[in-house]
Amino acid sequence: MEQVILLKLGEVVLKGLNRRKLEEIIIKTAKTALENIGACRITSAQSTLYVTFDEDFDADTAIDRLSKVFGIAALTKAAVCPFDFNEAKKIAQQYLAKELLTAKTFRVTAKRAIKAYPMTSPKICTELGEYLLEQNPHLLVDLHDPDITVYAEVREGGIYIHPSPKKGAGGLPCGSGGSGLLMLSGGIDSPVAGYLMARRGMNISAIHFQSPPYTSPRALQKVCTLAKLLSGYTGKITLYTVNFTRIQETIKTCCRDDFFTVIMRRFMLRIACDIAEKINAGAIITGESLGQVASQTLEAIICTDKISPIPVFRPLIGLDKQDIINYAYDIGTYETSSLPFEDCCTVFTPKHPKTKPHLEEIEKEEKKLDIQSLLENIEIEKTEWVY
Ligand code: ATP
Ligand code: MG
Repeated sequence: MEQVILLKLGEVVLKGLNRRKLEEIIIKTAKTALENIGACRITSAQSTLYVTFDEDFDADTAIDRLSKVFGIAALTKAAVCPFDFNEAKKIAQQYLAKELLTAKTFRVTAKRAIKAYPMTSPKICTELGEYLLEQNPHLLVDLHDPDITVYAEVREGGIYIHPSPKKGAGGLPCGSGGSGLLMLSGGIDSPVAGYLMARRGMNISAIHFQSPPYTSPRALQKVCTLAKLLSGYTGKITLYTVNFTRIQETIKTCCRDDFFTVIMRRFMLRIACDIAEKINAGAIITGESLGQVASQTLEAIICTDKISPIPVFRPLIGLDKQDIINYAYDIGTYETSSLPFEDCCTVFTPKHPKTKPHLEEIEKEEKKLDIQSLLENIEIEKTEWVY
């Protein structure tokens, strides 16, 4: 039986002139995702990509990997049947035998991309439904909430039979929305922030600040694992690891304790913007969410934002912690993020941070520091991560 994987395109089909370019990015990303699992070809027709493959191809692993490719709204493996409807009915039964046996209720949904096909969609539903009932007398028809929906799609090349498709990653293809530098801590929030911006088409690189010996190699290892997990969605991620110890110690020694966090975050942003400029990233991405901690009040965000010449994207700004945790579960980063290793942000946290700092007081406090010399000769290590 000939089989194929159908990739249903999402938002890109609305993109007019850009559509072809976006489709090409999805095909390229999909091909990369399918490396090493057997020979296959990807073609495009009628808002759908078709993955045809040879016998040695591992289609289940392929679906798993393709479900992480942005731009694909839904995906499924389908049996390709001839236009002869009697033949198609038999293949549908054979292809879905296992699912039909364990289901109690079912329905048939038909779609015709080829309007010249001699049977209407309702007729396809009725005839295929009757046939499947004869073959599976235990089944009942349920049009509203069936255990299984059998899809029959009349397209170029035949009638494609499949069960309900799996939800795809959605969004826009990676790289179609410019490049962003993600501030990646070891926490729950920042990997989710990176994922959400990548889903809107951004190419992601990451920057992490560590403060050895206050932060341990295991804490850094955790961040590397998160970068690797994220790269399953984004493609290869370059991670810049910055040694932040001297700067943190100097702020701690020289500045008011309650201003420590905001001043530290302004340094983080200065360094991040400098790297962003070097790698042509047009925006910084953080996992901040309004009011979550003292450094994420509106006043604190205003003070940090002022330092950045490029936009700072905070895709989690309006989400509750539980919403963020749900995302982290879904994208597979929660477990790693929950490992209890320290972050440089928490090591020096003051007991009573100022929650409503004013820019003038922060700038005045920073005058106690030689900012330029602190920013010189910082150790930065570059590593690359691929899922
Ligand atoms: P997260 O779960 O992402 O760690 P958080 O609740 O711990 O978030 P903060 O520690 O205030 O919040 O950090 C806010 C954001 O600042 C993080 O989401 C991340 O984008 C960035 N950030 C914090 N610590 C670091 C770090 N060590 N390296 C790089 N970015 C960081
Ligand atoms: Mg954190």
